[in-house]
Amino acid sequence: MREHGILVVVSGFSGAGKGTIMRELLNRYDNYALSISATTRQPRQGEIHGREYFFVTEEEFLRMIDDNKLIEYTRYVNHYYGTPSGYVLEQMAAGRDVILEIEIQGALNIKKKFPEAVLLFVAPPSAEELRRRLLGRGTEEPRVIEARLRRAVEESEGMDRYDYLLINDDLDRCVEETHQLIQAQRRKISNNMEFIRRIQNELRDI
Ligand code: 5GP
Repeated sequence: MREHGILVVVSGFSGAGKGTIMRELLNRYDNYALSISATTRQPRQGEIHGREYFFVTEEEFLRMIDDNKLIEYTRYVNHYYGTPSGYVLEQMAAGRDVILEIEIQGALNIKKKFPEAVLLFVAPPSAEELRRRLLGRGTEEPRVIEARLRRAVEESEGMDRYDYLLINDDLDRCVEETHQLIQAQRRKISNNMEFIRRIQNELRDI
């Protein structure tokens, strides 16, 4: 019997470093798969269609919604973002834990649909550090950075809806902690009821 993987939702303020943590997690362990979202925003410099995102038109995105091809979606800073369902369900069935790097509305929708999902929130050590990282990235105009900081204020109010907090001060420690948390979630009794029922039946018949 093959064990199903679980969904790992990772949110965090833009610039908190969640992308780096997840990339490193995928490098170190082979039981993870990263979901690639669809979005209507323009690619940033260096981003490639099918790697960071599937960049689609608004019309294409709306069609995906109509055709039920997204397990969740939301509008964020004037653009649509959504998780295509095919790859995610396929990888979970193959036993991999699938990582979704999404914002809070999507995270809460996922938890409703998949109660066994684990919701992780990545935060920098302080607000000042967040501003510094956003400026240092140099990929956005000041206007966009301000919009992201304002959005961070809103998002910080939803942090208590998550299961675990990851403070990204030391990458190596953060990656290990993330791995441990995900594996612990897989072992939760409530996520293993199928196994438990099976072994209970087997024991009765022995
Ligand atoms: P960015 O434009 O910086 O790549 O992403 C903006 C925000 O959208 C980030 O918080 C990111 O996690 C979130 N996001 C990316 N893909 C998805 C998705 O498929 N669904 C949802 N709900 N949010 C997403």
